[in-house]
Amino acid sequence: MTKINLLGMTIEEMISFAAKLGEAPFRGKQLYKWINRGTREFSEMTDFSKALRSRLEENACIEGVEILRQQHDKKDGTRKFLYGLKDGNAVEGVFMKYKYGNSLCVSSQVGCKMGCSFCASALDGFIRNLTAGEIIDQVFAAEKQTGETINHIVVMGMGEPFDNYDNLKKFLHIIHSKEGKNLSYRNITVSTSGIIPAMKRFAEDFPQVNLAVSLHRLDDCGRSRLMPVNRKYPVDELLDAASEYTKRTGRRITFEYTLIAGENDRREDVELMKKKLRGMLCHVNLIPLNKVRETGFDGSSRKRAEEIAEELGIAGIAATVRRELGSDIDGACGQLRLKNNQSD
Ligand code: SAH
Repeated sequence: MTKINLLGMTIEEMISFAAKLGEAPFRGKQLYKWINRGTREFSEMTDFSKALRSRLEENACIEGVEILRQQHDKKDGTRKFLYGLKDGNAVEGVFMKYKYGNSLCVSSQVGCKMGCSFCASALDGFIRNLTAGEIIDQVFAAEKQTGETINHIVVMGMGEPFDNYDNLKKFLHIIHSKEGKNLSYRNITVSTSGIIPAMKRFAEDFPQVNLAVSLHRLDDCGRSRLMPVNRKYPVDELLDAASEYTKRTGRRITFEYTLIAGENDRREDVELMKKKLRGMLCHVNLIPLNKVRETGFDGSSRKRAEEIAEELGIAGIAATVRRELGSDIDGACGQLRLKNNQSD
């Protein structure tokens, strides 16, 4: 009999699994707590009898991710992980230290379908969705590795989270559950390339989770070149959906704007931002591009990024330049995995 993987189960699923073993609902709840607070061995579940532990051993497993490699920037504490999956695939994550706590960037898919021309994750195409358990375990594996608590999660690693909506949803429910990590929804941010129908659904399902939308250009022709998703969900419709989101949730939306030299940091690009974003309940996060050799793009200078932030600020649009973290390690997400594949 194949063992059933308990990682990624909701509390209801865990209770019905316990029932199959002839156990009462509270046992299912206990099991859920152990697993979703980081325990990975049945032998460590001390409130279970020996007999129950060996029955669990026979029927179930707790299968998640394993950290294969780590790059550590000792100056600022940033760590980049390569997570190995059971089927031999790998994804990445980044642990960052901030004044307000520790943050982890997690991946939602192996590869990505979006095909953004500047992004390393798109280079190898799409392989598969991550399960809810594989997303959750990135958090626990990072806590174990660092010995630190993770207080914030950003779903901004490899993949398009809204292209794996059901598993994302399950992940958010589990990580937020009070019997699990009990992480506040306000401490979680999900980033999308702009899949409009999913943005609407997300506003209904998770009005307290922060939403970030990757813009990168505000003219359809240019944005479609950088981000093929724009052909299906063009700029003005995307901005309308963003406004609707802010109205529906009462929350500010974050726009990510990766600055690429000569491509989207020109005067006209800034003018278009001022014109189109004015009056919106938003915050613009300017991110100088991390160079990915294969794509041929270069990041804007820090100076240009700061000029743009200032200009937007004067126009009444809140904008900041993302603090540079992990300058000693390969910046762009997807690069560690590419390097690993090349050296294999
Ligand atoms: N698919 C989602 C989430 C993953 S990408 C999305 O598109 O939002 C997270 C962010 O990193 C996006 O804003 C993406 O455009 C940006 N990004 C991708 N490659 C980058 C690079 N080389 N340098 C800087 N930012 C990059």
